[in-house]
Amino acid sequence: MQVAVHWLREYLMRNYTDVVQGIIFATFTTWLVFRGCRPRVRVRKWILAFLTSYNTAQIISGITYLYVIGRFSVKGTLMDFLTATVCLLYPLIPLILLYQKVIGAEGPAATFLYALFFISNCLSMVIAETALQRMLLTVGLSLLLICFFWKEAEYILFQKSMLRMDRRFQMTSLAFMALIGAEAELPRIVIDGGTDFAGAQLAYAVSIVGVLLLALFMTFMKFNFFAIMKYENFIREHDDDSITNARSLSYLLEHGRDLIKNGADTGKSFAVFYTDIGNFRDINMMHGYDAGNRILQRAADALIAQFPDGIVARTSGAHFTGIVPLAYAQNGFDAAAREIEELSIDETLCLRAGICPAFPAAKEENDFGISERIVSQIDLAASALRYMPDSKSAVRFYDEDLRRKEEIRLHVLANVDKAVSEKWLRVYYQPVVEVKTRRTASYEALSRWIDPVYGFLTPDRFIVPLEEARMIYKVDLNVLRSYGREVQRIRSAGRRALPISFNISRTDLESGIDIYAEIESILSEMNIPKSLVHIEITESALNGDSLIMPQAVSRFHEMGLEVWMDDFGSGYSSLNVLKDYRFDVIKIDMEFLKRFDGRSKVIVRSICQMASALGIRTVAEGVETEEQYTFLKEIGCTYAQGYLFSKPLPPEEILTV
Ligand code: C2E
Ligand code: MG
Ligand code: MG
Repeated sequence: MQVAVHWLREYLMRNYTDVVQGIIFATFTTWLVFRGCRPRVRVRKWILAFLTSYNTAQIISGITYLYVIGRFSVKGTLMDFLTATVCLLYPLIPLILLYQKVIGAEGPAATFLYALFFISNCLSMVIAETALQRMLLTVGLSLLLICFFWKEAEYILFQKSMLRMDRRFQMTSLAFMALIGAEAELPRIVIDGGTDFAGAQLAYAVSIVGVLLLALFMTFMKFNFFAIMKYENFIREHDDDSITNARSLSYLLEHGRDLIKNGADTGKSFAVFYTDIGNFRDINMMHGYDAGNRILQRAADALIAQFPDGIVARTSGAHFTGIVPLAYAQNGFDAAAREIEELSIDETLCLRAGICPAFPAAKEENDFGISERIVSQIDLAASALRYMPDSKSAVRFYDEDLRRKEEIRLHVLANVDKAVSEKWLRVYYQPVVEVKTRRTASYEALSRWIDPVYGFLTPDRFIVPLEEARMIYKVDLNVLRSYGREVQRIRSAGRRALPISFNISRTDLESGIDIYAEIESILSEMNIPKSLVHIEITESALNGDSLIMPQAVSRFHEMGLEVWMDDFGSGYSSLNVLKDYRFDVIKIDMEFLKRFDGRSKVIVRSICQMASALGIRTVAEGVETEEQYTFLKEIGCTYAQGYLFSKPLPPEEILTV
């Protein structure tokens, strides 16, 4: 006991500067990091910080130095210098690691804070001539550095910054500590040895170098921080959406991660969503971008208000995405949709949301993995939007059925060429019967995709995706080529082939390929007479006011092909279409026969009469009963097509006269 007290007194007499500085260090740490904490925590942290301060480092390095010198009888100035420097620096490593634990910060932050005090202490040792001077200088320099780097210290501790993570930044702090620490050993070893004139001169020189090193440290670090803080603040400012109160995508990814992780702990489920506001573009077009922005702001506010526990971000235009509690998703979006509908100016604004339940984070999953998953779930939520139900609900969940549809869609897009070359794409033919004689006059060629993995795919599975991707021409040209092969087969059997009508999509004309030249070359290559091929264009393809469709109709006519209008009556401007285009045949949409009540009969009868007056032939689609057939005979419809006569069938069984 007495020995300990004696040692402590001795130590304090010699090293009271280090103790005082340890006190400043602990107070600074507690104030900076644990200001808001309970007193007990603060006291504990204060003690721990004091224990990890440079004071402890000094004790360890002093003991080690004495031990090494005694044990290995170090000789010569250089060796002494090197030994002292190593002894001075090595305890810093474990102490900084401990300090890092105490303040709960990453290595670079802890090292930087530690360096401020270490440097003050070492430098005072170089410059001061008496113990009192050293004490005053240490305290003064520590306070100077604290004030000078206060903002930076708070920044590196509390802001999300690359400085907190960056090992190179940590190395810079360590390098300065090593430089200034080594320099602090110089006076004792080199100069204190003699009091002659050269020694005093050298002492001044060393002091000046020390001050220069300090200035270098301050300037360098200040500038380093300044540049990075400025850059990071810039990014942060732009982290939120600039127009609405919604967040940015990068914010969503970073904080969404935490939501999902916490959700895994608390058992709360979340969902990723992606929205679209139907008719929003019209507002920008008709009322200008300011009006559009105001609507976006209010739409964002509506979403944020519905989901206070979630994150709402805007990706672009009228698309919002984010993470919301799954349990409240349906009601929340329905409510937001009603609010947004009220913002409509002319056309009704309708919010639609695709929703993908977010799988809870697995224990071993890292942040990067979760962010990646959020991105892919945003994609899934967006793809749910494609399959929006017609019902009133604003929401479509990404479920198993949708997953399969989407899987097939992507499979189709990726494999269309293979489907053609491997003959997964087959052409089925459905008879178009002359009503008067009930004899087959021609066939409609319809594509089928018989997939090795997904089996038999009907057109609704592959036509729309391929139209959207402007690749449907591959399917349409395949129809013509297959028909060409059938014609050759029939001819070589010495029989005569019947004509076909085949469907082309509007996007065939907009895909950047010359569809006319392609058709022309297949016809001539395969030696198919033009009288055997009719083009079907659906009425809906004629919507829009571009000149493409009228040009197409006349181009096909010039080529010597008949042009048939498909699904007549399914659109809203059927009569205009009749006025503006010269079709050879119109195919009456099967909806009319499906209904087959008094009104629809009147309509079908009038269409047939009007068409015949204009010299246009008619096809009734979807004929399924004898009753319908008799009616068509009675009203003078030219052709009929439907299950009553035959389903679409593979070519082996039909096509010949
Ligand atoms: P569409 O051109 O109007 O073809 C008629 C559709 O009605 C065919 O459906 C046919 O199978 C079906 N159908 C025929 N008779 C009856 C009937 O009595 N009752 C009922 N309920 N349905 C009948 P499918 O083959 O599923 O084709 C659907 C649509 O896909 C076609 O409508 C056409 O627009 C498009 N399509 C089919 N093949 C191709 C193609 O090769 N290229 C392009 N661009 N579109 C195609
Ligand atoms: Mg058709
Ligand atoms: Mg049709």
